Amino acid sequence: MNRIELTKPYLFFTAFLVVSISIFTFFERPSYLIPVFILFSCTLFWLYINSLRSFSDKDENLTGSGNFILNEELRANLNIEKILEAIPSPLILVDKQGKITFANANSEVLLPKILKVGNHISSTFRSPIFLETLEKVLTQNENIKLNFDANTPILKHIEVHFVQLPLDSYSRTGGTILMSLVDQSESKMVDQMRSDFVSNASHELRTPLASIIGFIETIKGHAKSDKENRELFLSLMHDQAIRMQRLVDDLLSLSKLELQEKSPPLKTCNVNKIINKITESFLPLSKKYKVKLVNNLPSNITNIIGDETQIHQLFSNLIENSLKYSGEKSTVKVELIKKQKHIKIKNNMIGIQIVDNGKGIPAEHIYRLTERFYRVNEDLSRQRQGTGLGLSIVKHILNRHQGELIIESKINEGSKFTVWLPKEKDKAQAIKNAKAA
Ligand code: ADP
Repeated sequence: MNRIELTKPYLFFTAFLVVSISIFTFFERPSYLIPVFILFSCTLFWLYINSLRSFSDKDENLTGSGNFILNEELRANLNIEKILEAIPSPLILVDKQGKITFANANSEVLLPKILKVGNHISSTFRSPIFLETLEKVLTQNENIKLNFDANTPILKHIEVHFVQLPLDSYSRTGGTILMSLVDQSESKMVDQMRSDFVSNASHELRTPLASIIGFIETIKGHAKSDKENRELFLSLMHDQAIRMQRLVDDLLSLSKLELQEKSPPLKTCNVNKIINKITESFLPLSKKYKVKLVNNLPSNITNIIGDETQIHQLFSNLIENSLKYSGEKSTVKVELIKKQKHIKIKNNMIGIQIVDNGKGIPAEHIYRLTERFYRVNEDLSRQRQGTGLGLSIVKHILNRHQGELIIESKINEGSKFTVWLPKEKDKAQAIKNAKAA
């Protein structure tokens, strides 16, 4: 019933009185009835005004601008299950015995197969710390927050809030406990990675720093007047300082790339030109390690969408690695490859391969190569001024460029690092770029 429906009977009776008074006065003219009718109609009018006032008083008592009668209806229709289903976080209700009485769809997504209404909650979570806390919640009627590791069967780090609810209809055993769950696995992993990264980076910096301090002390001490040794120590200190500088440069590149990862580049560049520059600059290195470096890319190669500096860094890291690690007398080639059916790469990509016929990489290391500070051979990497961050930088550059890296390797046959990058889309732009070049 709404405000209009409420006024209907009053309007009807008022109209009825007005009509009756008119008829009576017109035909009989009984003068004594006139004040009675007037009194009666005034009372009715007064009642009507009063009822309207009380109606608007109730309206004002409501929070918000909703209609009181509609809200009554809404309240009658409120359904706890519907509300818990609509809340976008995993929620479970358990009774005072610890039996699951309700689980919303989001909790089933978080805990597939191991959550069953009717079972005791300990059949879902067996962690001792969880069971101890549950005991406390059930016996001491407390609201508690807990972080624990759950086997779901994948190990997940879960935060649970136990809240006591006065919902006896859900439990004949008196009282219901709401468990609100949050999957913290990802943020815990990110925290762990951050802390590992800081400790690895500090360790990498501490080693050359300790050598430099040691050399300075030697020069100040017993090598003070030994010119020959002093020169040797100075050159060793220089090497260590260069190592630190490379590490700091790589760390800065990584942090810059992390910031840019969500904003893909818009400009285009020519990979052939970039590879020619790199080949030239690596001539001394290829001589040093006795490795042949060949650029087999066609000169008319389609431009790619990419940041020139970062594409230079990407190929530079891959080619430098092949020169440093493939071993003496190997050949490193840079080639354009065609997309084969079995390779799941989008059509608008160009594949460029850095292939060597050197020592190769044992299979068990391949999937970890792009991790920060991961090296197959620590000593060799340090000897060759490696920071352990080269392939991680490659991976981040490719993430930003929406590209792909595929690593294949066989012991004593060599390694293939295939980079897939998006082609320049606009043909008119391609012609313009070709003319400018
Ligand atoms: P680093 O600074 O040590 O070179 P990277 O991240 O660039 O670090 O490379 C990780 C490791 O991968 C290297 O330490 C090396 O052991 C291995 N590696 C990379 N490229 C090759 C290759 N072409 N042949 C053999 N091993 C390689």
